[in-house]
Amino acid sequence: MAAQIISGKTLAAQVKERMTGETEALKRQGVTPCLAVVLVGDDPASAVYVRGKQKDCEECGIRSLLVRLPAEATQQQVLERLAALAADGAVHGILVQLPLPRHIDEQAVIAAIPPEKDVDGFTPVNVGRMVIGEECFLPCTPAGCIEMLKSTGQPLAGKHAVVIGRSNIVGKPAAILLLRENATVTVCHSRTQGLAQLCRSADILVAAVGRAGFVTGDMVKPGATVIDVGINRNAEGKLCGDVNFAAASEKAAFITPVPGGVGLMTRAMLLVNTVQAARMQAKA
Ligand code: NAD
Repeated sequence: MAAQIISGKTLAAQVKERMTGETEALKRQGVTPCLAVVLVGDDPASAVYVRGKQKDCEECGIRSLLVRLPAEATQQQVLERLAALAADGAVHGILVQLPLPRHIDEQAVIAAIPPEKDVDGFTPVNVGRMVIGEECFLPCTPAGCIEMLKSTGQPLAGKHAVVIGRSNIVGKPAAILLLRENATVTVCHSRTQGLAQLCRSADILVAAVGRAGFVTGDMVKPGATVIDVGINRNAEGKLCGDVNFAAASEKAAFITPVPGGVGLMTRAMLLVNTVQAARMQAKA
């Protein structure tokens, strides 16, 4: 039987509706949530992502502020802009669009975002809080994955979750969040041996590799839930995930599509974090 689709479109629409309501309530208290997005350089893909984030904010009544710096901006200039945004009481969330030009130290820039405005959840302070289970901003993509998993109504506790990928923005935090949900977690990466077999033992399979069709049907345990984080282009230039969707959906019980899956929930979780940042800073 074909898997049930976990629709990022439906879930993101629900989150947006909730955030619109929360933004209206904050505005009645005199607080307009505001997200500042810092874009350095003119990478076309980054520009598309930033436009998407601004559009999402507008739809929910959140103010968005775009801070553009030229590709040749120095690290010092980026840090100075961040300091100004950090000090601006009207700005509740700050996001630096990655990747940054190569001459800029990404970690140094991220660390300059005050943790209370770090709506991407990438600063060392928020990552640390996430690991030890304290309240913090959760990174949007893995947080979106957890929301999608919970939407199935299937318990996560005690399940074997296999995460393919160990990046700081997806794989590692996804593993931590699954652990926080009491799943038993295996993290696979480019040096993992026996990957296919490990995947076949997964009740929950999260693919964050960045290779079209990496997860084949024979790697999916019958009845598993498959979360496809990948965003790739196939040979025909069509957007696709890391999972061979047609084959995997014959085996899985639940599966996320690409497009229309994790990407939309990632965007929605940024709105959740921005509204939360505004609420916390306004003590509303
Ligand atoms: P990355 O390149 O930083 O990490 C990829 C990971 O895959 C690495 O940890 C690596 O060890 C692992 N890997 C590579 N080859 C492997 C192999 N043969 N076997 C096992 N593991 C292997 O990428 P990332 O930033 O984590 O992103 C992963 C994918 O998710 C990309 O397609 C990216 O575009 C996508 N992405 C999607 C969203 C979203 O909102 N949907 C957000 C972020 C990233």
